[in-house]
Amino acid sequence: MKKNTKKILAILAVVAVLAAVLAACAKGASNNGETTTAGETEAAKETLVMATNAEFPPYEFHEGESIVGIDAEIAQAIADKLGMELKIEDVAFDSIIPGVQAGKYDMGMAGMTVTDERLKSVNFSDSYAKGVQVVIVKEDSDIKTLDDVNGKKIGVQTSTTGDIYATGDYGEENITKFDNGAVAVQALLSGKVDCVIIDNEPAKSYVKANEGLKILETAYVEEDYAICFNKDDTELQEKVNGALKELIADGTVKTIVDKYIPAE
Ligand code: GLN
Repeated sequence: MKKNTKKILAILAVVAVLAAVLAACAKGASNNGETTTAGETEAAKETLVMATNAEFPPYEFHEGESIVGIDAEIAQAIADKLGMELKIEDVAFDSIIPGVQAGKYDMGMAGMTVTDERLKSVNFSDSYAKGVQVVIVKEDSDIKTLDDVNGKKIGVQTSTTGDIYATGDYGEENITKFDNGAVAVQALLSGKVDCVIIDNEPAKSYVKANEGLKILETAYVEEDYAICFNKDDTELQEKVNGALKELIADGTVKTIVDKYIPAE
């Protein structure tokens, strides 16, 4: 008898905690439902604001008015799973992390590499793709190996891992920083720099889109891409990770990647 009473009390305690949690959730939901307008019958979906830099094909790029690409589609699939409305903000790459830290954006997704330095400022989801830093040169370039890059003028995108590694390996004085990969590649074409260090997939897109360029056979540095979050928002990080896991397991992520990166 005594044992049963204890059990009942334990169950009641659990129920009370659950009720409290539910009440808190309901409160949170109504607070966040800022887009609800009077008279609307359905509750407005919570918005998921993703910051990206849409000059990074095939992960994110402009197609007419919209931003498309691997990241845009994976983010949409995540938002759908979470019942949220995805909103993509196109900003400079180096303002993504500060914006996420300031709470301006819920997450940053931009073919972004997980680094120890960035982990001091933001949290990252599980990785959903791999990247490799490569070197783009003109077809007739005398740069044949990574050693040949020494002393040459190197173009990079500001604050990317290409920028960070190249600055460390070849010296600040040899680096020219550009707002995005597209302008860096234009500078290579016009002879302002001798090579561009950038992630492999955008490199392939740029080489395909412009005559007279090639990628050096030697891959430079390998890295993991993930989504970044504000350090205080572990709740969203966990929800996104859960959705991402399912989307990887059911093949959705692979289908999206294969659509943009056809097997050679
Ligand atoms: N993967 C690189 C980085 O995280 C480049 C990303 C980008 O330019 N969008 O720094």
